[in-house]
Amino acid sequence: MRDQDMDHGDRKVFIKSYGCQMNVYDGQRMADVLAGQGYAETTRQEEADLVILNTCHIREKAVDKVYSELGRVREIKDARAGEGKSTRIVVAGCVAQAEGAEIQRRQTAVDLVVGPQSYHRLPELLERSARRRVVDTEFPVEDKFGFLPAPDRARTLARGVTAFLTVQEGCDKFCAFCVVPYTRGAEMSRPVARIVAEAEALAAAGVRELTVIGQNVNAYHGEGPDGRVWPLWRLLARLAEIPGVARLRYTTSHPNDMDRELIAAHRDLPQLMPYLHLPVQSGSDRVLAAMNRRHDARAYLDIVAAVKAARPDIALSSDFIVGFPGETDADFEATMDLIDAVRFASVYSFKYSPRPGTPAADAAAQVPEPVKTERLLALQARVEEHRQAFNAAMVGRRTEILLERKGRHDGQLAGKTPWLQTVQVDASAGGCRIGDIVPVDIVGQSTNSLFGRIDSVKAVA
Ligand code: SF4
Repeated sequence: MRDQDMDHGDRKVFIKSYGCQMNVYDGQRMADVLAGQGYAETTRQEEADLVILNTCHIREKAVDKVYSELGRVREIKDARAGEGKSTRIVVAGCVAQAEGAEIQRRQTAVDLVVGPQSYHRLPELLERSARRRVVDTEFPVEDKFGFLPAPDRARTLARGVTAFLTVQEGCDKFCAFCVVPYTRGAEMSRPVARIVAEAEALAAAGVRELTVIGQNVNAYHGEGPDGRVWPLWRLLARLAEIPGVARLRYTTSHPNDMDRELIAAHRDLPQLMPYLHLPVQSGSDRVLAAMNRRHDARAYLDIVAAVKAARPDIALSSDFIVGFPGETDADFEATMDLIDAVRFASVYSFKYSPRPGTPAADAAAQVPEPVKTERLLALQARVEEHRQAFNAAMVGRRTEILLERKGRHDGQLAGKTPWLQTVQVDASAGGCRIGDIVPVDIVGQSTNSLFGRIDSVKAVA
């Protein structure tokens, strides 16, 4: 049965998003756009009339994954064609932006390639790709956000009581290893009024925790309702005024954009959670300079000290790359020293992966793979020690959790502490629901969860 023979509203879309929170947000917005075209989301690829792979380009492995996944989707497409059903394949996201037509050359079953700045055009692009294959990786003049439908209440509820909200896109930093400035373009900040409207719709639909996101979110500089430029701290203060918004977070930040006011917001804004994701990548000044991070380890540690002075119970997480070209044993030791100095609650760590078109990709002195592996394992062991110690220090303490979903076992609910730790609680006592923020006593710990006992069945806010 061809598309055009199908009734509007019968169609199903399967969307798989790889990589960062921004891609998760974009995937949800694509679903919102397509809902207006009669597509309902499905989690079963084999029943989808439309399959969208929303891709990540940050590491080689990520790109390889896309091509092997496309091979599987192609088989499903061929099998469905055998039953007289059509299946459209779309590649979206950062690999789409970086590779464009190359994707269709390597995988002829792909009908449409659409970049992260153009997915608001999906209805028109799908229409066109019914006649011939299409690639749209432009950086359009129009701001896609102006064309995206408001979040739908039912779909928002189905997605849960926490939500990502893109406020800024792109990056002007050009770190030597990173593709983002090339795949997401220059920094762009959304106007405050539009962000507030979207946040209000999310809160009205039951969202209690908002994470505002951007590739370089603390460089946010959007136009305020007063016509002035608003920095991130001011936007956060405005979002905190929205009824129903109990918790705020922001990610991903660059150390150089942690200004005094944003640090003070961690002291002054009760809704702002005491958790800061602040990538540093390396602890070696030599490597930081080669990465074009434009700060040294001392500067990073000074920011950490300032944030901890503002909010003593704050926890930090970070990103690290090991094996950057030219990294010596001494450089790596400097990274381990910085990790010991900060003791992060959580860390994302990766081996350096040369990305086409980035300055470091052609750098001499590439570090041998076995050395990268050895360093990564050593780093991961150290940060895991710190993470477990951070969690263990919670046992015997009281905190509040936002109940987010069903727990591991019947009668259990799971929620998050202000420090993003998962807590399993027995909710069979009744009276507490997903979306409540409840006081709990932490009574135990496992590798990836804490166990809590709800003090009394009453929501905090
Ligand atoms: S600041 Fe982040 S997003 Fe921007 S270039 Fe550097 S690593 Fe990439």
